[in-house]
Amino acid sequence: MDKYTVTREMLEFIDASPTCFHVVENIRNLLLDKGFKELFEKEEWSLESGRYFVTRNGSAIISFAIPEKSFRGFHMIASHSDSPTFKIKENPEMGAGSSYIKLNVEKYGGMICAQWLDRPLSVAGRVFVEKNGKPESLLVNVDRDLVIIPSLAIHMNREVNDGYKFNAQKDMLPLFGEEKAEGRFFEIVAKAAGVEKSDILGHDLFLYNRVKPCFWGADGEYIASARLDDQECVFTSLKGFLEAEAKEYVAMHCVFDNEEVGSGTRQGAASTFLKDTLERINDAIGRTRQQYHTAIAESFMISADNAHAYHPNNEDKADPVNKPVMNGGIVIKYNAAQKYTTDAFSAAKFRLFCKEADVPCQVFTNRSDIPGGSTLGNISTTQVPVSTVDIGLAQLAMHSPYETAGSRDPEYLAAVAKVFYSK
Ligand code: ZN
Repeated sequence: MDKYTVTREMLEFIDASPTCFHVVENIRNLLLDKGFKELFEKEEWSLESGRYFVTRNGSAIISFAIPEKSFRGFHMIASHSDSPTFKIKENPEMGAGSSYIKLNVEKYGGMICAQWLDRPLSVAGRVFVEKNGKPESLLVNVDRDLVIIPSLAIHMNREVNDGYKFNAQKDMLPLFGEEKAEGRFFEIVAKAAGVEKSDILGHDLFLYNRVKPCFWGADGEYIASARLDDQECVFTSLKGFLEAEAKEYVAMHCVFDNEEVGSGTRQGAASTFLKDTLERINDAIGRTRQQYHTAIAESFMISADNAHAYHPNNEDKADPVNKPVMNGGIVIKYNAAQKYTTDAFSAAKFRLFCKEADVPCQVFTNRSDIPGGSTLGNISTTQVPVSTVDIGLAQLAMHSPYETAGSRDPEYLAAVAKVFYSK
């Protein structure tokens, strides 16, 4: 068998998931295929052992498998569905001079701006239309090269290679067409959604990179793709989840939205989505409140969000000792200020899962003079206080629209997830 099977499947998944809404819909379809039952937050749940999932806002999803016998706790892996991009603003068409129509956009998350320039982009997300007097969501992807954000010629900005501060309102607006394109934007979006322009009552639309994923390097040892942060963790943990059979712990695959903007939404890791779901599982199978608390105390979470590989041209940016590499296995992340939840206990526990899966692991810490980023784990544990380890797969160019990672690492996370979820 091809050694990169999981990696190839993952890149197909990412390519088919230009936005958080597509991530959730594609997971949903995979789960329905595998016989999972969809639950709805607005309905009462009555559960027994079996496989279920629930979504919130169409952009967060929690899937779970309740084992046959009475369970001891919950085994959870959390990742995020969103990636940094540009959101289409209301009334987005803007004239520029007398001959251009461009689109008014705003930043979603902290991206590397320069890499969004001079490459084919398109628009995807969701629109709402009326159905029987109620809003109905439709996914949309304008599946063609639609816009480009052109850079300014070096002749007009001689300092561009000496560091340039990109202004989101001035430099980052994509060109959409000639003057006669006026009024066409929502026509094109509506057509892609299979409705009329006048049917659209609301929209959450984002730019996405049209460049396809690829394998590269002397022996194909690297991959490049949009949205590796964090769809690499989303897909590979799902892969392990689908192959596992839960025994003493409820296996839970959790994907939250809005990590890139701080997680503070009702579908983000700071919300009650996970807590609500855990409590409802507990109630719906007739366990007591006391049993809920003992189960939480027995539970474990893996917060899976990609990690920085040490950079070939910037060795000085890495910790002097701990320098994770791509294809070096799963990265355990540490931070004294607890931006990463890993402690001695959760690291020890996770290393045992890796040992059982025969998967290598390595360590990331920030340089002591670089604060680093944040992630889901420490945010989620304020709602659901379970022991948590922060991990990720090593990558370069995090938050570029085209990121690089190792070809072998996806298999490693899928393998550890399978062991973890099989407990
Ligand atoms: Zn991330």
